[in-house]
Amino acid sequence: MSKRICRAAVVHRFGGPEMIEVADCGMPQIKNPNQVLVRNHASGINPVDTYIRAGQYAKLPTLPYSPGKDGAGIVELVGDAVKNVKAGDRVWYGMESGSAGEYNVVNRPFPLPDGVSYSEGASLGVPYMTAYRALFHLAGAKTGDVILVHGASGGVGSALMQLAAWRNIEAVGTAGSKNGLQYLKRLGAKHVYNHSETGYVAKMKADYPGGFNYIFEMAAHTNLNTDLGLLAPRGKVAVIGNRSETTINARQLMVTEGAVFGVALGMSSEAELSDFGHNIVNFLKETEHRPIINKEYSLEQLGQAHKDIMENSGAKGNLVVKID
Ligand code: NAP
Repeated sequence: MSKRICRAAVVHRFGGPEMIEVADCGMPQIKNPNQVLVRNHASGINPVDTYIRAGQYAKLPTLPYSPGKDGAGIVELVGDAVKNVKAGDRVWYGMESGSAGEYNVVNRPFPLPDGVSYSEGASLGVPYMTAYRALFHLAGAKTGDVILVHGASGGVGSALMQLAAWRNIEAVGTAGSKNGLQYLKRLGAKHVYNHSETGYVAKMKADYPGGFNYIFEMAAHTNLNTDLGLLAPRGKVAVIGNRSETTINARQLMVTEGAVFGVALGMSSEAELSDFGHNIVNFLKETEHRPIINKEYSLEQLGQAHKDIMENSGAKGNLVVKID
């Protein structure tokens, strides 16, 4: 086994997307009985992959490292203590490391239900686990609540829209382009608004005079102050994405007795991540909702995918590297 070669993306130095190389590496080895070796067929791309590659993230890997937290493929080997999957099973995983390579060792594999493709499976990890943590684990949203997903056209936002639909929670979404708005309608959004258009906040206020019970925010640096004025009494804003400082008028929180809380998938315990994963499998089995793939790349195009996820506006779904 140890003599086999595995092609993988490798980063030797933190920096721009050009730091990503594809190289022949040694075959990864299972180190404890709870792990499995997966032959990857797809690797999901998330903004966090670019923060890590740039060296601008709280927890950085030791160099050189292979990027990619989310993936899907076939189990090649299982550790003795693994119960939920066996060799030959199709699996997905999230919040691991090294998915942008032919093989990697995975701590928490989840079965990939029939009919769900590898690219769809590789889009579940960070986006759906973050959405699950924010919507159910932290907010505790339930049927009858009305939520706003401010930035619903990307990976986390579309996962929030679908998970809300699963639990009959009314979800309103925003996108920054015409395509994005059409995409949100296909996801089942009751009302959609264009966050690039002047006046969209006034329209939302007119349509939802009672405000939102929860707002899931992808761009708090732009929207936090606005969100505070859109809350229902005792409503809450969940900050999921933020890229710079912002100013708020905190008086708005007194008017509604509202609150703001942060979401950090990285704060999840192993048990929580396992719980999110099992529930996401149930969601896939109980609904026809699937991650929407915006674009697929080859392993050699991973650097381009890193550029695209940060620079492309008008997002509609997930970016994936296919590994065949
Ligand atoms: P993504 O796929 O690139 O999507 C970005 C989303 O933000 C798109 O829907 C985009 O809409 C929207 N957006 C852009 N400008 C906006 C604005 N002014 N107002 C509202 N929304 C706006 O990224 P993602 O994977 O969904 O991640 C979203 C954010 O959450 C990122 O900042 C990411 O780093 C963060 N995140 C945080 C956690 C956590 O644990 N806290 C976990 C995962 C991700 P258009 O493109 O249609 O304009």
